[in-house]
Amino acid sequence: MEFKISDEFLGTVAPLVVYWVYSGFYVLFESNEKYRLHSKKEEDEKNLVSKRTVVKGVLLQQTIQAIVAIILFTVTGSDESPTMNEKHSLFDLGRQFFTAMVVLDTWQYFMHRYMHQNKFLYRHIHSLHHRLVVPYAYGALYNHPLEGLLLDTVGGALAFLLSGMSPRASIFFFSFATIKTVDDHCGLWLPGNLFHIFFRNNSAYHDVHHQLYGTKYNYSQPFFVVWDKILGTHMPYTLEKKENGGFEVRPVKVVKDD
Ligand SMILES: [Zn+2]
Ligand SMILES: [Zn+2]
Repeated sequence: MEFKISDEFLGTVAPLVVYWVYSGFYVLFESNEKYRLHSKKEEDEKNLVSKRTVVKGVLLQQTIQAIVAIILFTVTGSDESPTMNEKHSLFDLGRQFFTAMVVLDTWQYFMHRYMHQNKFLYRHIHSLHHRLVVPYAYGALYNHPLEGLLLDTVGGALAFLLSGMSPRASIFFFSFATIKTVDDHCGLWLPGNLFHIFFRNNSAYHDVHHQLYGTKYNYSQPFFVVWDKILGTHMPYTLEKKENGGFEVRPVKVVKDD
């Protein structure tokens, strides 16, 4: 009997595995103060949730999302079994990836911003994510399960459908998006990190959003900063080396709350 794992299944499960493997890699560096954007002491003082609760929250969220994603894939999938024979040029793949990145970014920007503007949604849903004032890698997907569904699962489904990518390509796209999200929350500035070179939306950029002064800025995630730029929610910052090791993200000008 042949046992086949479908691309749809891998597109759902691979990002979960990638999440823990990639954030596990960052655990190796988190005790090294010289790469940190906030000291360990600050992390312990400012964060409002224990690591145990974070791990449990992420696992619960991932379980719910995986079930919903499999259902979505089943409902939207076609009966043909085309992926083995489909020929995609690199150009096609690049176009699909880029479209999916733009769709996901656009969806997440407006949903994320709305979650801050709507007091009810912020208090009951999105504030959970902001309990991590000092983010760390495996806290990246610490969200209310409803937020995970709305931002990540629905956003991912839209990106998948509108880009026209195959389920096989989606394995790589969703894994990439997961790695990027983990990286943006790693709380570190490691030398040679390619994401810091290729993306202006990076761990320092998103760190601004997690600070009290920055909650109404830098909503864009996970790839580009375009929507923040266009809609005036972009907060410029500098990255300074601290005397006693590590880095500090400093806003160039603090704009008053409304
Ligand atoms: Zn937020
Ligand atoms: Zn975040």
